[in-house]
Amino acid sequence: MYRPDHVKTSPDFPIPDTMRAWVLGDPDQLTLTTKPVPVPKRAEVLVRIDAVAICATDLEIIHHGPPAMIQGGQPFNKNFTPGHEYMGTVAALGPGVDEYKIGERVTVEIHAGCGQCKRCREGMYTACHNYGLNYGDVDKGHRANGFTTDGGFAEYAVNSINTLVRVSDEMSDEEATLVVTAGTAMYGLTELGGLVAGESVVVTGPGPIGLLGVAVAKALGAQPVILTGTRDNRLQIGRELGADYVINAKNEDPVGAVRRLNGGKGVDYVIECSGAPDAINEAARMVNRGGRICLAAFPGKPAAVDIAYLVRNNIYVYGIRGEGKSATHRAEAFMAQKRFDATKVHTHTFALEDLPTALRYARERIEDAIKVVVKTHGHAATNRVAAE
Ligand SMILES: [Zn+2]
Ligand SMILES: [Zn+2]
Repeated sequence: MYRPDHVKTSPDFPIPDTMRAWVLGDPDQLTLTTKPVPVPKRAEVLVRIDAVAICATDLEIIHHGPPAMIQGGQPFNKNFTPGHEYMGTVAALGPGVDEYKIGERVTVEIHAGCGQCKRCREGMYTACHNYGLNYGDVDKGHRANGFTTDGGFAEYAVNSINTLVRVSDEMSDEEATLVVTAGTAMYGLTELGGLVAGESVVVTGPGPIGLLGVAVAKALGAQPVILTGTRDNRLQIGRELGADYVINAKNEDPVGAVRRLNGGKGVDYVIECSGAPDAINEAARMVNRGGRICLAAFPGKPAAVDIAYLVRNNIYVYGIRGEGKSATHRAEAFMAQKRFDATKVHTHTFALEDLPTALRYARERIEDAIKVVVKTHGHAATNRVAAE
């Protein structure tokens, strides 16, 4: 029975000594194995994972490696468990932890900064200067689950208490996995200036972050909020999440359409979520003079940028990584108040043992999959029939 020294457990939450966990071997090679249930240290808890969503970054890591970094290098063949957008139940408390109780439902942020470096001290823990210097060999305290330490395609994970966000019992497991996605959109808007009531916003690219970017911008009072993309079904979901206008870039020039919809001047903010090679130049022409662009996605190769246009028009460009400055807590507050329905981007659910199928659904966008969620226990895969 799991009972490590100095770790608080409860008879209500019996914990086994071992757990099922997917492990990354060579690129694209995942194996379901058994691992010891990890042990929380100071300021950490053990989370029983109840659900985990698949992110485009998971597909990147499993196929290419970066931005995951294990023991200073590629994540392959290092007994590494990917997956980072998970939620669950607090199952055990590390030494000294009294901020949480066993049995509380939580969703998690990915990055626990070291808490010591310049950026962590500024609340920019997703840009921690000790990224990749994990617990273990180098006891720096930095942790990015599913990137530099074991993640959520498993039954249990250890999390720093700084990464936990309580979720209300009314929120489903699936919805709770989306809090961090909405948190990323919230962080983008935080970096652009935060309070956006009455400001005009364009979101380019209706992936999960873009769609929830629309929802968060609208909840913050932005007006109008315009979504651009190429797939009508996703643009329709954007409308349901609050977009005042949607533009299908296959049917009309998105730059011309944005300027027309906003009185010819262009908008105050663009949140770029498409990762298209020319997206930054298009975004520059969508914003007004002095406007701001947040880059939340990126193309696979370096892109040519019209710098003269940015300079002459005093345009600000921000790169964001993840979800710093406690943005996830603000996103959860909106979701708890039902200011938008994030479940509109959740399309499929599978059981943990069906992870390879779930990844295929996400990668190939089978049946218009957007957010695919894996339930780690007690789940009869609802989409099993569809998967066969
Ligand atoms: Zn993600
Ligand atoms: Zn740090």
